[in-house]
Amino acid sequence: MKKEYIIPIFVPHLGCPNNCTFCNQKRISGQTKQVTAKDVKETIDYYLKNFKDNHKYVEVAFFGGSFTAIEKEKQIELLEAAQEYIKNKKVNSIRISTRPDCIDKEILKRMKKYHVKTIELGVQSTNNYILTRCKRGHTGEDVKKASKLIRRFGFILGHQMMVGLPESTKQDEINTAKELIKLRPKIVRIYPVLVIKDTQLADEYEKDEYIPLTVGQAVERCKEIVDLFNRNRINVIRIGLQNTEEISDPNTEKSSVIAGPYHPAFRQLVEDSMWYDAIVNKIKKINDKVKKVKIIANDINVNNIIGHGKENMLKLKEIYNVDIVIEKNDKIKPGRFKIEILELYE
Ligand code: SF4
Repeated sequence: MKKEYIIPIFVPHLGCPNNCTFCNQKRISGQTKQVTAKDVKETIDYYLKNFKDNHKYVEVAFFGGSFTAIEKEKQIELLEAAQEYIKNKKVNSIRISTRPDCIDKEILKRMKKYHVKTIELGVQSTNNYILTRCKRGHTGEDVKKASKLIRRFGFILGHQMMVGLPESTKQDEINTAKELIKLRPKIVRIYPVLVIKDTQLADEYEKDEYIPLTVGQAVERCKEIVDLFNRNRINVIRIGLQNTEEISDPNTEKSSVIAGPYHPAFRQLVEDSMWYDAIVNKIKKINDKVKKVKIIANDINVNNIIGHGKENMLKLKEIYNVDIVIEKNDKIKPGRFKIEILELYE
């Protein structure tokens, strides 16, 4: 299988008709100037020069902002800039992210013409009250319409949703995930809300009108949603915002994060916690008081079993008084495991 490489091109706040309360796109993408065709070409050349693998699949991804809300001429300028790389097969495809209310047939025809393959929609929630509360400027109905149209045109559909939006409960987020599953996206990104400087949410936070989730709460919420997507074979390609200079520990000087469930290995925390639950469930099904077990799993899951900072092993000992030893076995499929009792309590 070809290894996938992404060439990210950030299009900050360009054309975005909104000011969602949680967003300061200029800070998230770490740049504020207008992107030009020259920038696109320079970025692609830079990445291509640094990719080592010869047998690779390369995708140019226009992230940030709302690509299809940019003025048409600019969209064409940026897409045109990537075409020569598609023609000479140095780049295989293009992906864009945009808002659900910035999709129509004319836009999708344009995206087809310029070899866009994947369209990711920033959904955030399908609950109209929550969408209004954070000034998203679109409705749950827009999400449905845009998703169906994108799929009908043959694009790969992606969704991005958030957990911990103002007044959003765990159940609201489960409902959003279930609504999205019905729309059959291929890929999903889940972002816990961070409070970013110079946003309305930051003001609400300062006035105690918004209380962000803790890391633990965000992990709990995310893992249920990830489980729902997993069970429906939808690929969760990201959990948590990408770490950058601006999206970093709130205690570091350059960080734009004021508060919220920031963790540099947030995805690992979610996956570790899912492994912990699965292991505890299996142990609970054993009809004896277990003292020590062996967990047999694929090498790639060993860190999830141990947990970040050995958290899973420590919790199993502290809460259930169970010791574990791990045996790597590459015959076990990734994500699966077997358990063997090594010792019982008298
Ligand atoms: S639509 Fe997207 S880019 Fe625009 S303000 Fe909202 S989150 Fe930021």
